[in-house]
This record gives sequence, C-alpha cells and structure tokens, in this order.
Amino acid sequence: MKVVFLGSGTSTGVPVIGCECPVCVSDNPRNKRWRSSVLVQSETTTLLVDSSPDLRAQALKHGLTAIDGVIYTHEHLDHTAGFDEMRAFCWKRTERLPLYAGPACLEQLRRMFGWAFAESNTYQGYVRPAAHDHEGKPFTIGDIEVIPVPVIHATVETFGYVFQTGGKSFGYVPDIQELPEGSKPLLMGLDALAMDGLRFRPHRTHFNVEQNVAHMQELCPRLGLVTHCGHEVDYDDLCTKLPPFMQPAYDGMNLCL
Ligand SMILES: [Zn+2]
Ligand SMILES: [Zn+2]
Ligand SMILES: [Zn+2]
Repeated sequence: MKVVFLGSGTSTGVPVIGCECPVCVSDNPRNKRWRSSVLVQSETTTLLVDSSPDLRAQALKHGLTAIDGVIYTHEHLDHTAGFDEMRAFCWKRTERLPLYAGPACLEQLRRMFGWAFAESNTYQGYVRPAAHDHEGKPFTIGDIEVIPVPVIHATVETFGYVFQTGGKSFGYVPDIQELPEGSKPLLMGLDALAMDGLRFRPHRTHFNVEQNVAHMQELCPRLGLVTHCGHEVDYDDLCTKLPPFMQPAYDGMNLCL
C-alpha cells in the first residue's frame, strides 16, 4: 500500500492569507500546507480521500490523472470544495466515478453540487458520480477494503477511515475532537495512523497535538502521524516534541507500507 499526503493543512492552508507569523513567512517547504487530502494506492487501485480546494494544484504536482473512487470524511468545505476539479478524472471514464460518504455528507454534496448528481447528468464534461451512502459499514473499491470510523467533530457527521490491502493497514482521521469508545478498536494497532493535530493550544472542534499524542499512545500504530496542522505549528519544532514512533505529516509525504 502506498499513501501520498496531497495536503496536510487545516482549512486556511499555510501560509494563511495576510499573516506574517514565523511559520507563514518560513522558507521551510514543510511549513507549506495545502488543505488536507490523501491518496491511498494499491498496485491496481487509487483512492482519493476528500476533494480539497487545492485539488487542482495537488493533482498537477503529483501527476494524478485518474482515480478509481473518492471517499469523503465530512462536508466541511476544506474537504469538499474541490469537487468540480474531479471533472478531469471523469472525462476519460465511461463509468460513473464511485463516490462514498456517510448519509449526512452525501446529502450535503447532493445539495451543493446538485447538477452532478442529477439523473439527467450524462454530460462527459461534468463530474459524474456514482453515489454510495456507506452507512458507516465497510466497503471495498478495487482491492482496497475501507472501514468507516465514526468520530466526533464540530456539529457535522464525520468519519475517519481505515484502509486495508496486501496485509497492510492505514488509518486516516483528519478532523476529530473526540474519539468515541466504540471506534477505538477499529484504530488499534495499525501499520500507520494519521490524525488531526491542529495546534498546541486546545481547540473546540479539533485535537491539539497533546490530544493526538495521547491517543496515539493508546492506539499504538507502528507509525503515528500528525496532520491537519495550522500556522501555529512549525514542522521542525513539532519534530522535537513527538515520541520516537511519531512524525508530522507534510505535503508530498509518501508512505510505502
Ligand atoms: Zn478540515
Ligand atoms: Zn501565520
Ligand atoms: Zn472539519
């Protein structure tokens, strides 16, 4: 399994427009963060998790020209606003593009991008999704099994996901403020787990770094990653503050599991 971090930033991205803080003006490429999204790949299957507002730039940077499906964590715009960029992944397809989301997120996507979901949409130039409500139950795309993990985040239904293929497992939970007890077993002992770590100070709707680390120590992945970071997090500084089995994720990070 291969995982590519297309973006590792919070909703504003880093640098933040108009901000002159040390991280925003830093020359360190690892302090440049596009909005959060990952690719999960096997030999035969490529899945996109969320369509960030930076999807066009992310696809161009990584030479991404085709996907086999898109999976949504939740409806917030930093995870959905790049929806229309997926046109480029539909032009060459005859089949509709498999799209998976929980029921509330799917309802919002249908509202926001109604033209794409309309029965009458057969136009080759549009995003043509084949929408699936996963109802919180595991599903498979190609040779990758996907297990939804319900989490608490803001006021919207939100899922993390565990991806399994070739005997390897990767967990991805970019937005979370609380992990329900019932979801913990799903995230236990994975090969790699990336979770929300917005900043060092507490935040109402996101894990801070301290909460991320505490959960990683309980869930014991082989590799723990901090993602969805804002401009209060300096990459080099964060590296010094994490236990040995953990690292900050960064844009362009490539995991081969
Ligand atoms: Zn987010
Ligand atoms: Zn800043
Ligand atoms: Zn969110």
